[in-house]
Amino acid sequence: MNIDVLELGPMDNCTYLVSDGTDALLIDPGWDMNYIEHTLTQKKLNLLAVLFTHGHFDHVKDCEPLLRAHHLKAYLEEKDVALSGLPADVLHTYCGEQNFQIGPFAVHIIPTPGHTAGGVCIQIGDAIFTGDTLFPGACGRVDLPSSDARAMRKSLLTLSKLPEDTRVFTGHSYGGQCCSTIGAERMHNPFMRSAIKDEGVIK
Ligand SMILES: [Zn+2]
Repeated sequence: MNIDVLELGPMDNCTYLVSDGTDALLIDPGWDMNYIEHTLTQKKLNLLAVLFTHGHFDHVKDCEPLLRAHHLKAYLEEKDVALSGLPADVLHTYCGEQNFQIGPFAVHIIPTPGHTAGGVCIQIGDAIFTGDTLFPGACGRVDLPSSDARAMRKSLLTLSKLPEDTRVFTGHSYGGQCCSTIGAERMHNPFMRSAIKDEGVIK
């Protein structure tokens, strides 16, 4: 499985292109569809699906023409549909934990509310795409509409239980860094450490 990081837009967003050399998935294509189309063409990849970690505008905003051009619907948790502003006919909505087989890709959706109510992490093989839930050494903001700080702590605890060598790919490259591992975050992320420490009292 190849994972290309496309850093696009003025907010250090990371779009991920997951492929097996033939088929591809896109995660959080929010900006610069011309560049994304060019990349797909250059790599001769067949785009099978688009998945969103959550509905914030900077993760979704310019994707509609891409979806229509490829006759695709984007996977988005239903609690973030209104937030996304996207029309229903370009969305494949779902609720809660899911397993999707999309071509050769086994996709596990883990609900991780906290940054937004419908925020999810997307697990494919040994990689997890954490959107704005988990960053290297940090977590996403919980002071936005539909944020929930307590839910974020539970979500960080859920992520902490994944295998330590799980590769983490985050929704922005704040500070130039967008990748980590669950093991590194368990060791060094103060928000995840605090959630683990309080496991017995987190409800
Ligand atoms: Zn966000």
